[in-house]
Amino acid sequence: MQATLTAIAIGTLAALGYAVSCAVWPFARCWVCDGKAHHTPKGNTRISRPCRWCKATGRRLRLGRRVWNRIRVAHHNGTR
Ligand SMILES: [Zn+2]
Repeated sequence: MQATLTAIAIGTLAALGYAVSCAVWPFARCWVCDGKAHHTPKGNTRISRPCRWCKATGRRLRLGRRVWNRIRVAHHNGTR
């Protein structure tokens, strides 16, 4: 029982920490272009095209922040 409570506490803390980090740093470096906003197809390093995943910004919205935005929009729509 003690172990279960400890696991729940650790899980809650981790979730809270992740939520806070998503609020403070909503953007993460794009993993497709590695933050360079352009990406080069495999085997052809001379061609560089704007990254479609991050819309050539080099940043992407973190998953936690996307979920948060979705909840906020749903809440907004529900209270109108
Ligand atoms: Zn990108």
